[in-house]
Amino acid sequence: MSIGAATNGTTGLPVPSHNAHATATATATTSPYQHIADFISNVGKFKIIESTLREGEQFANAFFDTETKIKIATALSEFGVDYIELTSPCASPASRADCEAICKLGLKAKILTHTRCTLEDAKIACDCGVDGVDVVIGTSSFLREHSHGKDMAAITKQALEVVNYIKSRGVEVRFSSEDSFRAVDNAGVHRVGIADTVGCASPRQVYDLVRTLRGVVKCDIECHFHDDTSCAVANAYSALEAGATHIDTSVLGIGERNGIAPLGAFLARMIVAAPEYVKRKYDLHRLKDIENIVAEAVHINVPFNNPVTGFCAFTHKAGIHSKAILNSPSTYEIINPEDFGMSRYVHFAHRLTGWNSIKSRVEQLGLHMTDAQVKLLTTKIKAMADVRPLAIDDADSIIRAFHLDLQERDTVETWKN
Ligand SMILES: [Zn+2]
Repeated sequence: MSIGAATNGTTGLPVPSHNAHATATATATTSPYQHIADFISNVGKFKIIESTLREGEQFANAFFDTETKIKIATALSEFGVDYIELTSPCASPASRADCEAICKLGLKAKILTHTRCTLEDAKIACDCGVDGVDVVIGTSSFLREHSHGKDMAAITKQALEVVNYIKSRGVEVRFSSEDSFRAVDNAGVHRVGIADTVGCASPRQVYDLVRTLRGVVKCDIECHFHDDTSCAVANAYSALEAGATHIDTSVLGIGERNGIAPLGAFLARMIVAAPEYVKRKYDLHRLKDIENIVAEAVHINVPFNNPVTGFCAFTHKAGIHSKAILNSPSTYEIINPEDFGMSRYVHFAHRLTGWNSIKSRVEQLGLHMTDAQVKLLTTKIKAMADVRPLAIDDADSIIRAFHLDLQERDTVETWKN
């Protein structure tokens, strides 16, 4: 059990430290990389709000037709995300029809939509049959001056009206703003949201902000991080450490500009910190399929360096790494590829290879050689690979030819005897 759970759901205040010690001792860690629970952290107990069908629609290449949206929503629900966030039904007639269609699917994941903070929008959202509404209002002094021109009292009054209306329809409310958290918390919103919409925050800044907010509100805290400075996943992790409860993700991170915290990269981070929770809750073997569905829908390739599913995510090349990996995978692998239905690959057909990699390949091919013979074979392969790049097939041919040669020599020896 996470100590954060006892804290965040109730008072938001730290529980006595002897409890923290008890829990830290109870959850004996098996890996030095695993998170050590403290009283505020939700690292071992977080929820995902999957926003591919809201934030992701703002991605430059995105155009999801109804069929594609249903396919993505169904796949995400089966994967195990807690919430699926959809584009506001007020955005366009098709957005509204799609929102209604997805609500009717009866998915396990809860369906959220995102609307402006007006009664009109809130009513349309509730009429679609969503489980929750994320209400957004900009309250910074800049926005007050240049966007909707309202003062704080008027903003708070309007926010409370909308929050109370949505609650009266039996629907969850999340409220997102900068200055009005305490008021809406008292009005009983389920969640408040903070967003780094320009992607400029650092993990330390996020920790301090969320920690402060955790002390002010007792409701759940949702965080939304853009990835402009490549900190989205780090910020999400930091937010959970500071007591946030919900993280926004999108598949492959697609969204406005270069997007938000990617679902796969976030879970790569989280499986290291909270392996049991992540493996129990999410059907990780489906990740690759979901990424492929979305990549195809928005006409992009899965990046080569994508955590977990990038084409070389579990490929080991240098001889010394390969030797260690073959003996004990955890030496150079923080994530077990099998947890995600992936497999490790030791790249052996190159000039940096070592005899352990070649020996492993010889065994994979079902051939038998002594270590001395494998070492001689390795010298031949390295010599060839120094001249030109070798395809796996080339290397396999060299291995088979060498093996055949050995057998023929053996036969000659036998005849001599
Ligand atoms: Zn965003």
